[in-house]
Amino acid sequence: RVKEERGNAFRFFEARMNEHLHARRQLEQDLRYAVERGQLELYYQPLFSCSTNLVEGFEALLRWNHPARGMVPPLEFMPLAEATGLIDRIGHWVIETACATAAGWQRPLRIAVNVSPSQFRRAGLAETVAATLARAGLAPDRLEIEITESVLMEHTAIALDLLGALRGQGVHIVLDDFGTGYSSLSYLRSFRFDKLKIDKSFVQALGNNEDATMIVRTIIGLAHNLGLSVVAEGVENPRQLAIIGAHLCDQVQGYLLGRPMPVDKLAAFTDQAAALPSRSIQTLTPTA
Ligand code: C2E
Ligand code: MG
Ligand code: MG
Ligand code: MG
Repeated sequence: RVKEERGNAFRFFEARMNEHLHARRQLEQDLRYAVERGQLELYYQPLFSCSTNLVEGFEALLRWNHPARGMVPPLEFMPLAEATGLIDRIGHWVIETACATAAGWQRPLRIAVNVSPSQFRRAGLAETVAATLARAGLAPDRLEIEITESVLMEHTAIALDLLGALRGQGVHIVLDDFGTGYSSLSYLRSFRFDKLKIDKSFVQALGNNEDATMIVRTIIGLAHNLGLSVVAEGVENPRQLAIIGAHLCDQVQGYLLGRPMPVDKLAAFTDQAAALPSRSIQTLTPTA
């Protein structure tokens, strides 16, 4: 009997595995199709200055509107893109599209682009970036490349070269999701960054957690002492914004001030945000 039950359990497990594998293969096929048909889209989320309250830039964020499943979040399909090698085409398209979009803006705002570890491992990223900037006619210092610590952990020598080459062009390097990785402090010594982005997990704990306030304050101080600027991501309410502002963070980003939006909403958003009197960052209504 025990044997039989085990057998059943195994068949059940096997069936679930097959289902899972099948769903994954299907999604993989759909993603390949979406890339070929140009069904991926970039949304743009504003970054505000804490001192002037103005929009200083936008972060490009991938969106996949799946015909049957609706919006698939990047945290779901990016690992798939990496595992299948589709990331090369996607990453290329993201940099190209983001730079072309930014080149068309009325104001010289910055554009931030996320780059994943596997894109970073490929040879030629610095050359790709240089060629793309030239084609778009975008000044290098208007581009920010956002990387996470995992990029630095894997191939330190390659990462050093690549970051050096990018910074040499005048491109800004941002360390994203700061505080969530392993040994942030040693990276800060070996690599030169322009900006630290405080992870939203710390920002969202602000106000209901004393430790979170201390950590955020400490990261801001650390960044400034190292001559880096600092941005807080994931600001969702006025309380968090007030704490961030009180500790002299340079920039903020979050649903409270602006959600990621499609490209056709950007001009109106920037005009509206730019027309606001100072200090009104606290009262700017979040968009849909
Ligand atoms: P990330 O670069 O850390 O981006 C921040 C994420 O936080 C985005 O999620 C953004 O929509 C979300 N966010 C912004 N403000 C708030 C807020 O106030 N509250 C909450 N709860 N969330 C907020 P999204 O767009 O789902 O992207 C998730 C991650 O996927 C990104 O994290 C990034 O690691 C990756 N990703 C997105 N687009 C790209 C891309 O073009 N290339 C690469 N390589 N990775 C990308
Ligand atoms: Mg980012
Ligand atoms: Mg982040
Ligand atoms: Mg993140």
